[in-house]
Amino acid sequence: MDEATARFVRERAGFRCEYCLLPERHVRLPFEIEHVVARQHGGTDALGNLAFACLHCNKRKGPNLTGLDRVAARAKIVRLFHPRHHSWGYHFSLLGPRIVGRTAIGRVTVDVLAMNEPLLVLLREELIEEGLFPG
Ligand SMILES: [Zn+2]
Repeated sequence: MDEATARFVRERAGFRCEYCLLPERHVRLPFEIEHVVARQHGGTDALGNLAFACLHCNKRKGPNLTGLDRVAARAKIVRLFHPRHHSWGYHFSLLGPRIVGRTAIGRVTVDVLAMNEPLLVLLREELIEEGLFPG
C-alpha cells in the first residue's frame, strides 16, 4: 500500500479509530490501516476495504469477519461492523465511556474487539473529562 493511500484512509477516518473512535493524536502508538476483509479471505487494498484502526481494535479484529450474538436463546453468527458499509451511530452508542452495541452487528463487534476492556474505558473516561472524546 502506498503512502498516498495510507494518508487518504487516515484523513477519511478523521484520524480516529473507525471502530472505537479513539483519536490517534492522544495515543502514543500509531494506528494502522486495517483490511476490513482480511487478505486471507480475499480482501484487497481497495479503498472500500480499508479502515483506520487503533492497535487494540486491529489486533482484536484480526481476520475475523463475524462474531456470536448471544442475546437470542440460540447464539447467532453475525457479521462484524464494516466501517465502509455501516453507520457507527446506528450500530453503537456511547454510555459514558462505554461503547454499547445497539444492534446485533454492534453487539458482536463490541464483544469480538473487546471495546470495553477496563484500560480502554479508563482512557475514554480521561479523554471525556478533558473534552477530547468523542470530540
Ligand atoms: Zn479502536
